[in-house]
Amino acid sequence: MTSLAVLALAVALVFSACQQSRSGEAQAAENAQPAAQSQRVGSTSAPSTADESEPAVAADDSEPQSTGEDAQQENAADEDAEQDDAGLSGETESADTAAAESEDAPMSKDDYKELAMENLTAEQYDICFLKGTEPPGSGKYDHFYEPGTYYCVVCGEPLFKSDTKYDSGSGWPAFYDAIGTDAVTTEEDNSLGMRRIEVMCSNCGAHLGHVFDDGPAPTGQRYCINSLALEFKPDEEQAESEQTESEQE
Ligand SMILES: [Zn+2]
Repeated sequence: MTSLAVLALAVALVFSACQQSRSGEAQAAENAQPAAQSQRVGSTSAPSTADESEPAVAADDSEPQSTGEDAQQENAADEDAEQDDAGLSGETESADTAAAESEDAPMSKDDYKELAMENLTAEQYDICFLKGTEPPGSGKYDHFYEPGTYYCVVCGEPLFKSDTKYDSGSGWPAFYDAIGTDAVTTEEDNSLGMRRIEVMCSNCGAHLGHVFDDGPAPTGQRYCINSLALEFKPDEEQAESEQTESEQE
C-alpha cells in the first residue's frame, strides 16, 4: 500500500512538473490563463508566424531552449508576478492615501493656480497669475462704494473692507488699508522700468495690484487693486451666511 502511494505521488509530481514545464513561458505571459489554454494559444500561433516570415528552423530552435530551463523560468516568473502584484497594490494604496491627504491638507499655491485655470476668465487669470493690469477705468469696482467686503477672486479669502475704500482718481479701486496685517503680502516689483511694491493675496499668492505711499490718512498707503482680482460681497449677505452657519452648528 505504502509503496503504491509513493509511486502514485511520484507519478503525480512528474506529471505536474511536465505540465508546468510545457506551459512555462505561455503561463508567464498570461498569468491568469489555465495551462492547457495558453499552451493551445502558443502552439497555434508559433507555426503560423514561422511559416510566413521565418524559416521553420527558428521555431525548432526555440523549442529545446524553452524545455531546458522551464522549471526555473516558471519559478522566476511566478516570483516576478507576485512582486508585481505587491508593487501594484502598494502603489494603489499610496495613491489613495495621497488623495485623502490632499482633501484635508490646505491647498498649495499650485493647487489654486490649477483651480483658477478652470474657473477664472482669461482676463482674471492674466492679472492674478501673470501679473497683468486691467485697463484704467474698466474695472467694475473702480467707482463702487457699497458697504461690504472684497474677497480674493482665486481663493475667497477676505482682503479689503469697503470702509477703507476711496476714490484715488487713478482708474483702479483704491484702499488705504488691507483687512488685516496678514491678508496681503508685498514684494518689490521692478518690472516695466518702475520701482513698485506688488500686492499679493497671502493665502494663494494671486497678484492683486500695487501699493504706493501716496494714500490718505490714517495710513498714507494706496492699495491700487485690480477689480478683476476681487469679488465683492455686501455685509448683509455675509452676516446672513454666518448666521446660517451658526444655526447649523
Ligand atoms: Zn487668494
